[in-house]
Amino acid sequence: MAVSRTIIVAGAGIGGLTAALALAAKGFRVIVLERTERLDEVGAGLQLSPNASRILVELGLQPRLDACAVVPDAVTAINARSGRAIVRMPIGNVAVRNGAPYWVVHRADLQAALAAQVAAHPSIDLRLGCAVEDVAPHANGVTVSAGGGQEPGLALISADGIWSAVRGVAFPKTQPLFSGLIAWRGTIPAEAMPDGERLRGVQLWLGPEAHLVVYPISSGRRINLVAVVNGSWNQRGWSARGEPTEIVARFAHWAGAARALIGTVENWTRWALFAMPDGGVWNQGPIAMLGDASHGMLPFAAQGAGMAIEDAAVLAAGLAASHGEGRGGTAAEVAATLQRYAALRRPRVRRVQQLARQNGVIYHLPGAAAIARDVAMRALGPDRLLARQSWIYDWRP
Ligand SMILES: Cc1cc2nc3c(=O)[nH]c(=O)nc-3n(C[C@H](O)[C@H](O)[C@H](O)COP(=O)(O)OP(=O)(O)OC[C@H]3O[C@@H](n4cnc5c(N)ncnc54)[C@H](O)[C@@H]3O)c2cc1C
Repeated sequence: MAVSRTIIVAGAGIGGLTAALALAAKGFRVIVLERTERLDEVGAGLQLSPNASRILVELGLQPRLDACAVVPDAVTAINARSGRAIVRMPIGNVAVRNGAPYWVVHRADLQAALAAQVAAHPSIDLRLGCAVEDVAPHANGVTVSAGGGQEPGLALISADGIWSAVRGVAFPKTQPLFSGLIAWRGTIPAEAMPDGERLRGVQLWLGPEAHLVVYPISSGRRINLVAVVNGSWNQRGWSARGEPTEIVARFAHWAGAARALIGTVENWTRWALFAMPDGGVWNQGPIAMLGDASHGMLPFAAQGAGMAIEDAAVLAAGLAASHGEGRGGTAAEVAATLQRYAALRRPRVRRVQQLARQNGVIYHLPGAAAIARDVAMRALGPDRLLARQSWIYDWRP
């Protein structure tokens, strides 16, 4: 097939695999270059609200995700000191209104589902153990150096994560900044829930200078815990080992149920939370940035994966409109298409990045400010609190 119908994607994470499927659905040939030798089972839970799940459903992922994702019944905010619910927000209506599920899923399960769908698609060539090293734009598109070879294409989609190698070439001056926050991640078997509770929703425990998110994953067989605390440890990577006694001590003043959850995790991993500047970086000539490579954000709006999936859908639709079957593909036209993609995505992503940061501040309020927060949340009530999120959930590509 001609080079002009080939799009190269760097990275087979959530955004890269979704982009490959969305582009292939529009008739493009796609080459996905992934650094790792295999798609490892690292990471833990991700939330997928209807703005993102709808795109996955349209790409045919629903049967695979129904088999592993969980549909939570509600998000409950809980005061960490008292252990009492501040507000319980049933999220069924969000899904019904949008005709798409609200899912919580293990990152590895989502990546495996996407990879299986990719493997079944004749127009996608996924190459593992193939790190992108360099990029050279030229008059006919772009040539990507990866794994000792060179690959020509119409455009390069950089979906290679928050430490993107492509961004290092295209936007060398823009790097993620450390937030001063560290996320600790662990899972426990569902039957190990304290008091034998069967957890069906998302728990959001709010405490001074820390919060804890708990929800079921893996068809409800396991419970995902993410505890976020302040700190100065700022190494890159997703799965450094965490010392259990350290995190147990950080939550020593929390309600018994939270301490019991924390104490049940045997193996903790942690990742230092970095974020890209607001608005992200998006395009340069035939290169488009996508997902964390563009706008890695704090996870407190639960939209990191969702924004990568939205990016993929918008980018594929834009490329199909200007460079679909039978249409042209000069370097200038490709650059203009990617510029339009950036203009469409930047404002929304910036707003989500800002919301995530604000949430982090609100979640971690201490003392009297925390009491005021809880009073305000109760006064607003579940419907109005959820309505404040509808600009995220009700989005359409
Ligand atoms: C191992 C891992 C574990 C994670 N765990 C969690 C978690 O538990 N909770 C959470 O909220 N978020 C987690 N995330 C982040 C979350 O997946 C992303 O925020 C979100 O899904 C956006 O995805 P993305 O596709 O933009 O980037 P990512 O999902 O980070 O994917 C980037 C991909 O690019 C590949 N890559 C990197 N450099 C190169 C290169 N030079 N050439 C080719 N390929 C390259 C990486 O190996 C990876 O597969 C994790 C990410 C990773 C990579």
